[in-house]
Amino acid sequence: MKDIFENDRYMMVDRLVRDGYIKSEKVKQAMLRVPRHLFVPENVRRLAYEDTPLPIGFGQTISAPHMVALMCELADLEIGMNVLEVGTGSGYHAAVIAEIIAPIDVEKRKWGHVFTIERIPELAKFARENLTTAGYSERVTVIVGDGTRGYAEKSPYDRIIVTAAAPSIPKPLIDQLKVGGKLIIPVGDRFLQYLYVVEKKSEQEVSSKAMIPCLFVPLIGEHGWKDAIESYERNYF
Ligand code: SAM
Repeated sequence: MKDIFENDRYMMVDRLVRDGYIKSEKVKQAMLRVPRHLFVPENVRRLAYEDTPLPIGFGQTISAPHMVALMCELADLEIGMNVLEVGTGSGYHAAVIAEIIAPIDVEKRKWGHVFTIERIPELAKFARENLTTAGYSERVTVIVGDGTRGYAEKSPYDRIIVTAAAPSIPKPLIDQLKVGGKLIIPVGDRFLQYLYVVEKKSEQEVSSKAMIPCLFVPLIGEHGWKDAIESYERNYF
């Protein structure tokens, strides 16, 4: 999509490639295609292509582009996959995933789908509007709910990507992964987490590997933090 931010978007992607966050052509193309400025509120639009999280209201943020790139690379997404994202926020990360698993230049019957779940109804509405404006409504479904319980209706998933920080890995997410599937999730407390890649090797065997330190807003729900305060007060490390 040609727009007045195109040059800024190319420069942002160039930097992410140079800094080693983008490694594959598919993530590069996806991040070149998704117009991040359509996923942020008007008052921060001029900052849309800075590599930083930005406020989207309700105390929440759109993640920094380098984190979106890194999580997509770790997830090793392929065309046709069934993906669950927990923490829709603005809808931007879901759109980047959709560009990889259901690219517009591939026949629709080969498309995968992104189910993304958000606990704050107003943000789910914001994301739905952004995704429609940017052309992703056929490839992404936004659900309002507690994503720590997963979304059993459309499981099992090839990949689950969690974009808020959990105190531990929610069991329903492991249960809803396919054997051979991967879960990418930040685990820790309010001030420090590690990004984990969890692989379901068989119905009985799961492996997990901490990749890098990171900082996300808390994952609040039945299998997450009870509320934001608890994530401040209870140390994980
Ligand atoms: N992926 C988002 C984007 O592209 O804009 C950024 C997500 S923001 C860092 C984390 C989001 O997770 C917030 O919108 C927050 O409301 C949501 N969240 C927190 N706990 C949740 C839960 N249990 N279920 C679903 N969403 C949750």
